[in-house]
Order: sequence, then structure tokens, then C-alpha cells
Amino acid sequence: MLKMKNQCEQCHAKTGLADIAFICSFECTFCEGCAQKMSCTCPNCGGELVRRPLRVKSPIAVAASQLSKTLLGRK
Ligand SMILES: [Zn+2]
Ligand SMILES: [Zn+2]
Repeated sequence: MLKMKNQCEQCHAKTGLADIAFICSFECTFCEGCAQKMSCTCPNCGGELVRRPLRVKSPIAVAASQLSKTLLGRK
């Protein structure tokens, strides 16, 4: 599971679970404005910054639905 950092590492703007944020493969996290200023390149590792998927459910809700699908899917 991704670690969902809730702050831009550059300007410390809030990047909550439902906010648009950009991350690199090492999960360095930046707000949209900083990512665009840096041409979507991570200043820490030089990697590509991509839009982080929004998380709209709690991990527990998702785990419960994955589990129930697994149980129901077994015949
Ligand atoms: Zn920022
Ligand atoms: Zn990085």
C-alpha cells in the first residue's frame, strides 16, 4: 500500500488523501503547483512525478471488500 503523505515536501502545502498530489516511485510527495514548476521531475531522486491516485475509502473498508470478494469467489 502507498504511504499517503499529506504534505508537499517542497512548500508544505496540504496534500490530503482527496487532494491532487504528485509522487515519484520513492513516494516523495509534491503538490500540483510544485510538480509543474519542477516539470514533473522529483528533485530528490530525479525520477518522474506522476499523479497520485485519490484514496476515497479507508484501507479497512477496502480490505473488507477484498476479503468478501475472495470468500464469495471461491466455489
Ligand atoms: Zn508544493
Ligand atoms: Zn523521488
